[in-house]
Parts: sequence; C-alpha cells; structure tokens
Amino acid sequence: MLQITYSPATTIVPTYGCFNRCGYCSFRQEPNAPWRSLAAVGADLAAAQGLVEILILSGEVAPQNLRRAAWLEHSVAIATLALKSGFLPHSNIGPLTRPEMQRLKAVNVSLGLMLEQLRPDLAVHRHAPSKEPALRLAQLRQAGELQIPFTTGMLIGIGETRADWETTLVAIANLHQTYGHIQEVIIQPFRPNQGVSTVSDADVVAALRLGRQILPTDITLQVPPNLTDHCLLACLEAGARDLGGLVPHDHVNPRYRHPQDLAIRLAAAGYYLVPRLPVYPQYERWLSPELQAHVQRAKAELGAQQPPSQNQ
Ligand code: SF4
Repeated sequence: MLQITYSPATTIVPTYGCFNRCGYCSFRQEPNAPWRSLAAVGADLAAAQGLVEILILSGEVAPQNLRRAAWLEHSVAIATLALKSGFLPHSNIGPLTRPEMQRLKAVNVSLGLMLEQLRPDLAVHRHAPSKEPALRLAQLRQAGELQIPFTTGMLIGIGETRADWETTLVAIANLHQTYGHIQEVIIQPFRPNQGVSTVSDADVVAALRLGRQILPTDITLQVPPNLTDHCLLACLEAGARDLGGLVPHDHVNPRYRHPQDLAIRLAAAGYYLVPRLPVYPQYERWLSPELQAHVQRAKAELGAQQPPSQNQ
C-alpha cells in the first residue's frame, strides 16, 4: 500500500478584504471589510479540537495601507493564539516584506504563497498588483533565504498555456535547488464557483506528470481532492502524494466539498491515507526551540490518534 498524506486542518480568515481584484476570485470583499476578532478566532479554535493545522488565509492588505502593520500584527496574534491553543499555524496572507516574513516565521511552522503562473500578461491578474510574477518569485527566494519551510503551487486554467506550466515549475525547481525549502507544490485546477470549469481531468494529470518530471523528488506534489474528485486516482498515479488540508469548509472554493469517503476509496485502490503535520520532518531544525516543542507535542498527539498500522 502506498502512503498518501493529508493535514487535519481548519481555516481561519483574518479578513476577506483584499486590494487585488483577481478575475476568478469569489473569496474577496472590499478592502474595508471587517477583521475577524480574536474572540471569534478563540471560538473557531475551540470548535477545531482534534485537528492539527490552523491555515491562516487572508485577503491582502496593500503595502501602502495605513492598517498594514496592524493587519500583520493581527495575523501574528491569531497564529500565537492558535499555538497557545495546541495547534500548528501555517499562514498564507500574501507577499510580505522581509521583516514581516521574519515576524510570521516566529509563530508559524511553515508559510505558503501560490506562485500561480509566471506569465505576466494574464488578463485575470490585470487588476491584481500583488500577482506580479517577479514579486511572487522574490517571495519564494526570500523565504529560502530566511530558511522557512514553504508551500507554493501552480493554478492552472487561468489563461496560461502548457508551456507556461513548464516555465513556472522550472522556476520553483531552481529556487529549491538553491535553498532547499519548498516542502510541497500544489497543482490546483481553477474551478469556478459558478459555471463550468475549463480545466479537464487530462489537463490536471498532465500538469502533475510535468511537475513530477521537473521538480526535485524531495518536493511533494499536492492536489486538492475536492477539486479533482473525478480524477483523483489518476492524479495519484501521476505522482501526487498529498491531499493538503482537508478543511471542513473550503473558503476559496465553497462550492466544492471534500469527499467524505476518501480513505475507503483510496484503500480500494491500494493507497492508505495518513495525517501529517504542516511542517515536514526535514524542516523541523529550521524552527525555533519553542516551535519545535509545539511540533513534538503535536506529533505525539497525532501518533496517538493513528491506528498502529499507520504509525510506521
Ligand atoms: S489576491 Fe486572493 S483574495 Fe485577493 S482577489 Fe486575488 S485571489 Fe482573491
């Protein structure tokens, strides 16, 4: 049986307000949207007992916005509260300055940012200043310089070509060759919350195959099972080995729920589903002693939850 991992997770959104206007987004609200209070976050955490990862996923606040520093500190406060409540935070809140990224590193076991596509002329990004590919690529480099375990990914079906996939994957591979910090790459098909997806199952599988060809073998390929429901086994055959955070509610793709019978379906096909932490073992040494202590505790709890056959 081949092991497929996932992260038992839930999502907390500091704000849906976002200064970008990506053409495909049904997540964003206007930049003055309210922030989730720490009291509300505390209630979210109380409802998440038994899970491990808190994915902190935020709309983006513009660099010149006067509330930028307060928003960053609010994100730090949410991650700190998650740690104190026994969870491991992973934040994905958009491009960060070097000091901002260092600040988040102290309270997160890993960070993430989708590269999406390196192609700079995509119509869907025309009104999204922070989707500038060079800026995103610089973020991946900065995370490598700061030794931050990192998740990135490619969003397919947003107007790019298959040649663009190769450019994007090669760029990720090159950065990883230099810094060794990319723990996983998500291959995410764009699925509209209204209307029909233009990404075929064959596209998803082809992107995964290309990813497996181009990316170093120590980078895990991830697919979201709620967005690849009809081709999940083909995705695994093409090299996907992780299903990401199996969250109760996908805030970005609310129309797509995670399949409930994943473990049974995978077992029937010769795979077994194993929970993992939001930091991969080879990166624990990059974490502060305090974060390492949180990771050890979470590891013990996760191990205790698993049946003996999955504990090897
Ligand atoms: S940056 Fe994210 S939240 Fe903001 S508009 Fe784009 S996809 Fe939506």
